[in-house]
Amino acid sequence: MVLPFKHEPFTDFSNENKRREFEEGLRKVKEELGKDYPIVINGERFFTNDKLVSINPANKKEVIGHVSKATKEHIDKAFESSLEAFKLWGKMAPVARADILFKAAAIVRRRKHEFSAWLAFEAGKPWGQADGDTAEGIDFLEYYGRQMLDLVNGKPLEDRANEHNSYFYQPMGPGVTIPPWNFAFAIVCGTTVAPIVAGNPVLLKPSENTPVIAYKLVEVLEEAGLPKGVLNFVPGDPAVIGDYLVDHKETRFINFTGSRATGTRIIERASKVQDGQQHLKRVVAEMGGKDTIIVDKDADLDLAADAIVNSAFGFSGQKCSACSRAVLHKDVYHEVLEKAVRLTKELTVGNPTEKDVNMGAVVNKKQFEKVKEYIEIGKREGELVLGGETDDSEGFFVKPTIFKDVAPKARLMQEEIFGPVVAFAKADNFDELLEIANNTEYGLTGAVISNNREHLEKARYDFHVGNLYFNRGCTAAIVGYQPFGGFKMSGTDSKAGGPDYLQHFLEAKVVSERY
Ligand code: NAD
Repeated sequence: MVLPFKHEPFTDFSNENKRREFEEGLRKVKEELGKDYPIVINGERFFTNDKLVSINPANKKEVIGHVSKATKEHIDKAFESSLEAFKLWGKMAPVARADILFKAAAIVRRRKHEFSAWLAFEAGKPWGQADGDTAEGIDFLEYYGRQMLDLVNGKPLEDRANEHNSYFYQPMGPGVTIPPWNFAFAIVCGTTVAPIVAGNPVLLKPSENTPVIAYKLVEVLEEAGLPKGVLNFVPGDPAVIGDYLVDHKETRFINFTGSRATGTRIIERASKVQDGQQHLKRVVAEMGGKDTIIVDKDADLDLAADAIVNSAFGFSGQKCSACSRAVLHKDVYHEVLEKAVRLTKELTVGNPTEKDVNMGAVVNKKQFEKVKEYIEIGKREGELVLGGETDDSEGFFVKPTIFKDVAPKARLMQEEIFGPVVAFAKADNFDELLEIANNTEYGLTGAVISNNREHLEKARYDFHVGNLYFNRGCTAAIVGYQPFGGFKMSGTDSKAGGPDYLQHFLEAKVVSERY
């Protein structure tokens, strides 16, 4: 019998013992900084001279690790090993495959704070955010294991006299997982183990910003008993191996999460049939967002300000679901803005490995420069109310920044910034609030803060996003509770952490027998 899925609880950092345990995790990881990490193919370790250098975004001088870069030859070798591993893994009982995920979840759970500490050092996550990222990774392991068990018997079909029909799922073969850096454990874990538990070998190409934590996942899955060759770890420079992985004739699927630009490139390239390719490639592409919280005239204004501030500045706005647009009814605009400014002033910015830091640095120099540029654009397009200061002397720090009176079609309201910047705009009535919310090319998350049931019901169907929230912020989806995926240019709406996710990596087969 499959036990019901239970979401991994978050750590209560108001408890002194828990804080000490977390500090212990940080100490342990600090001792391990600066090591060399290999490529892994068929369980074998390969070190190359050319390496990714992963650094702490809050302390540029601190090297997290050196990670060997895979070449095209490594990728060919990884595909060979995946094809060999598929012969056994694809036929292994789903219950045995799921057990490996459950064991991996237990291993991570035991070393939870250590994983979160890697996230604090390598991805710049404050304690609470890091803890949430690790918990989500554990949830993916537990949830997808259970989902596989649910699919073991396929689905029922109708039978006729003298005929029996069956409908069941089979894995597809090797595929490629390409995750982003912003959920450096959770998304890496979820996008890797879902195709694996479905019976497919995976080549994992982690983000160049956070390859060390991805390697830690590879180690856990090995410890949990994953056979050699089922997961091959091929870190590298995306400009060198990205297209090669996507174009490869042996790639059955690409499980991508990242920016719109990379996602659309992958979709286009994957559609081209290569010499010797005997299948169509499936692409799951979860991409960017320009997420809006709208605040109605009749609404809880404290809740509205709290939702905007948490969703805009949690993990420095570097979530695909981050609120970067607050669109308010004109009658409550000034009051909510004032409350939001007050709450934002309370946020501390600093090195997230230290306690009680609300916001760390942004991930790298490129992102820092991009956010700075948007702050300048914002000064031309609206009025800077708070923040705007940046400092990259030690790490890539940006103060939480609020602009007001921004026009609905301004660049600040249309383009994904992926930093701690939120634009406020006003509207005359609820229809206009919705119209502005829908006026970008993205459709990932959104929230409505309103006490008006009629308005909520209108938004239920007309607010065009994959994940819509009422009377709460627009971030923090939980596996099994809020399956996640966007509409429009936000992606293929795969609904990660949901009941239909594993089918993306399975082929349904029908067998009819005449008696
Ligand atoms: P990115 O597109 O720069 O990189 C994502 C991944 O693609 C990385 O592993 C990168 O190395 C790889 N890559 C880059 N070029 C490639 C190429 N030509 N071929 C193959 N792979 C290539 O995105 P990022 O900066 O890592 O992540 C931030 C973006 O991810 C934001 O746009 C954010 O909204 C989005 N995101 C979306 C979701 C979601 O569920 N919709 C979740 C998290 C992040």
